[in-house]
Amino acid sequence: MNSLEFDREHIWHPYTSLTHPLPTYSIARAEGVHLELADGRKLIDGMSSWWACVHGYNVPELNEAAETQLKKMAHVMFGGITHEPAIELSKKLVAMTPEGLDRVFLADSGSVAVEVAMKMAIQYWHSKGTPKTRFLTIRKGYHGDTFGAMSVCDPNGGMHELYTGFLPKHLFADAPTCRFNDAWNPQYLDNFSALIKENHHEIAAVILEPIVQGAGGMRMYHPDYLKGVRSLCDEYDVLLIADEIATGFGRTGKLFACEWACITPDIICLGKALTGGYMTLSATLTTQQVAYTICNGSAGVLMHGPTFMGNPLACAIANASIDLLMQSDWQQHVAQIESQLIKELTPYRTHPAVADVRVLGAIGVVETKQPVNMAELQSIFVNEGVWIRPFGKLIYIMPPFIMPPTELSKLCHAIGMGLDSMKG
Ligand SMILES: *Cc1c(COP(=O)(O)O)cnc(C)c1O
Repeated sequence: MNSLEFDREHIWHPYTSLTHPLPTYSIARAEGVHLELADGRKLIDGMSSWWACVHGYNVPELNEAAETQLKKMAHVMFGGITHEPAIELSKKLVAMTPEGLDRVFLADSGSVAVEVAMKMAIQYWHSKGTPKTRFLTIRKGYHGDTFGAMSVCDPNGGMHELYTGFLPKHLFADAPTCRFNDAWNPQYLDNFSALIKENHHEIAAVILEPIVQGAGGMRMYHPDYLKGVRSLCDEYDVLLIADEIATGFGRTGKLFACEWACITPDIICLGKALTGGYMTLSATLTTQQVAYTICNGSAGVLMHGPTFMGNPLACAIANASIDLLMQSDWQQHVAQIESQLIKELTPYRTHPAVADVRVLGAIGVVETKQPVNMAELQSIFVNEGVWIRPFGKLIYIMPPFIMPPTELSKLCHAIGMGLDSMKG
């Protein structure tokens, strides 16, 4: 049995079957904006390994940070122990996130950061002596695969039906229909507004992805919607959790997507690009007021503490990644990628297979009329020398910020080839 056969028979990949697995491609190494297949072919990376590798691969500064930290310690428990990499990272996150978010919980993945945020919200109201345990969110959202996170993902599409009876029932407002660049009309908030008004006595927090809804549909909505949500949360005394796991660290053209609406959430979740895609690490930040309320309650503590909390190796790499980002001209790079995506993807709007094209920051989305044949499209892309992983009706790219224009053109061109292979 060769290694690809072993993989097919024994190893689960994300959201796949073991009886009818989709093909996998063996990557031997990666450098800059390229993934190198085991047979030596190089693919231009359009995915940043799911939003994470903003600096590309095999980055000298991040390698060096990893090697230096490795010689000191790869890991040490965080219970009763602290260390410079975690302290430095927390200082950086407090300084760069929206004003007021200055209490930091370091966790091990995006989904766990969301669980921690939801626990913070529940403990907050418990401590106040007015327990509230429901969440309000918007449809087409995605917040992770653990149970708490799953319970606030879009309810259509499998996960909720499969786990009926186990998942708590939360409240879902319609997905925002006002596109990022549309003219704003306050009526766009009516449905959300009615739900919060009617249920606020039960709602611990609103949780949403600010401005860009990622894996739940790759949709971009109007900053005034987010502004309106913030003021409704204030009006009805409900916490606001911003899940910036996909949007954080420059992807939308702002360092954090909340900045498009000039709002500060009560709790923010960060992950994915936090370590430049090198390691798994996440952070949940909140305000002093929320933190103190939780800790002054009967529990006295926040009830969470993963084994690999504050992993020094991951924190050291995150520090180097944030330094690299902040020293780079990332705004310029993202703006250039955005204008090129607008120029080279927008023409596909008239393609018979295409329903919509959307671009914001370093995110380009082509929505098709029919669901794509993932395996077929993937093989077309690999033959074109690019790595793009479509799903459902979405062919999308979010390249590393260092993507040169010539390579970005090849990605956009390959999307056209993929579309041509589809029927309208
Ligand atoms: C990816 C993602 C998560 C989950 O992060 P994992 O590290 O995969 O657990 C949560 N929220 C959003 C918005 C994401 O894009």
